[in-house]
Parts: sequence; structure tokens; C-alpha cells
Amino acid sequence: MLATIVYINNPQNTQHVDKAIKLNKVGRIMPYINVKGLNKSYKIGDIVIDANKNINFEVEMGELVVILGDSGAGKSTLLNLLGGMDKANSGDILIGSKNIAKLNDYQMTDYRRNDVGFVFQFYNLVPNLTAKENVELAVELVNGGIDPVDALKDVGLTNRINNFPAQLSGGEQQRVAIARAVAKKPKLLLCDEPTGALDYETGKQVLKFLKKNARKQKTTVIIVTHNSSIATIADKVIYMKDASIYKIVSNDNPKSIDDLDY
Ligand code: ADP
Repeated sequence: MLATIVYINNPQNTQHVDKAIKLNKVGRIMPYINVKGLNKSYKIGDIVIDANKNINFEVEMGELVVILGDSGAGKSTLLNLLGGMDKANSGDILIGSKNIAKLNDYQMTDYRRNDVGFVFQFYNLVPNLTAKENVELAVELVNGGIDPVDALKDVGLTNRINNFPAQLSGGEQQRVAIARAVAKKPKLLLCDEPTGALDYETGKQVLKFLKKNARKQKTTVIIVTHNSSIATIADKVIYMKDASIYKIVSNDNPKSIDDLDY
């Protein structure tokens, strides 16, 4: 299925970003992310499963993007490729000055460590480390991260920094996971169903912290979800089905998370 761009993003949406504007040869502003002709399939015995087929899209620096689709549509595969956790069969993933699809293993590790923050549905915290230690662990790997206590304060967990994950609610654990991801000051924050395990109010609160922290640090955020309501808060929504993108819509007026209903 061919992708159709329904509405090109209004540049005013990204006014909050101090972009280092890069122009191409014809004077057009270069997008921060440019995915071109991306394909990924898995082989199980004789069977080939297409997980991503001819994926093409662009993301501006500082945008909040939602990738929306039902289970099996290929969303996590795409997120894993963007995050350097998997290798594409063909195509390009241009992010800033790098082509992620062409990096060797060493460069890929460096990219994952320094450029990307991850937030997963089930938090993935280390159970025998406190909230503060979980964040410290991530910050220690990079140069120029933010103070773990400040990161935890920013997600409203000042009083829980010495608690272990098992002593925290699901929403609190996800906020630790956001602090951990954001404390690295990543250029790109990738979130796989970040509210999938949370109730409605807690999910909204988590989205709020996610958006607030990303805006504060001018991070580009990509959220994968099957929940179409979450799409209304995004600057751009990429719709996926059967391993392909079938529609990309830019939102002139993304909904405030307070007005979100899902
Ligand atoms: P979504 O995140 O939208 O639920 P996925 O990207 O997880 O979709 O999966 C897309 C397709 O690729 C599905 O058919 C899934 O079964 C298949 N798939 C994903 N990962 C693997 C894997 N490691 N091995 C084999 N098939 C996979």
C-alpha cells in the first residue's frame, strides 16, 4: 500500500525547537529523521514474514510523533530499527548526520547509548536497584547526562528516589523509566506502548511527564501505540497496517493531554 501524506506539517508546530537548520541542495529544510525504502522481514524455517514493507517518512526535530496501528502492524519492528536494536534488510534510516541502517555493531552500540532513550510498556527497571540507582546506571554510560535526582524530581518522584521498583505503583515505575530515559539527554526518545499497562488517569499522567520532559530538553519523541486517542496529542501521526504505512497526518493543533479522553 502506498503512503499518502495528507497534510504537511505546519512549521509553526516546531517553533519551540532551536533547530540547527540544515538545507539540502534545493534549499529545502532537511528533516531530522528521514526513513527511505525501509524493509524488514523475519524468516522462520521456509516462511518469510514481512514486518516492515517499503517504509518512508520524515520527522522534524522536536516533533512528538505517534505510530498507530493494530497488533502485528509492524510498529515495534519499526521502533526497534529506529533505535538500532535490529537491522533492516534494505533501506535507509537517516537520523541527524547518521545512517542508522548502515552502522557497524560498534557504531550501533554508541548510537543506542548516546543518542536514544527507550521507554517500554513494562518499564524494564532493574528490580534490585532503587529508583535513583536505576537512573544512575543509565546516566553513567553517557557524557553530559542530567543529575538522576533532578530527573526523578522532574517526574514528580522526589519522595520515592530510594524505593525499589516493587515498592512503586505501575505509574510510578513508568515515571522512573521516563526519568531514566530522559536523564541521558537523548536526541531521540522511543516509547513502545508507554501507557499500555496503566489505567486511564495514570496513563495520562505518564504522557504528561513524557511530553513535558521531552519539550524541556527539545527531544524528538516517537510513541508506538494501538490506542487512537493518544494520537490526538501528537504533532504527526503515522498509520500502519500489514507492515506498511498507509497514511501520515500532521496535526496543526495537537490536543492538550488534559483534554485527552481514552
Ligand atoms: P506490532 O508492534 O504492530 O504489534 P510487530 O512489529 O511486533 O507489530 O510485528 C510485525 C510482524 O512481524 C508480526 O507478524 C510479527 O509476528 C512479526 N515479528 C515481529 N518480530 C518477529 C521476530 N523476532 N520473529 C519473527 N516474526 C516477528
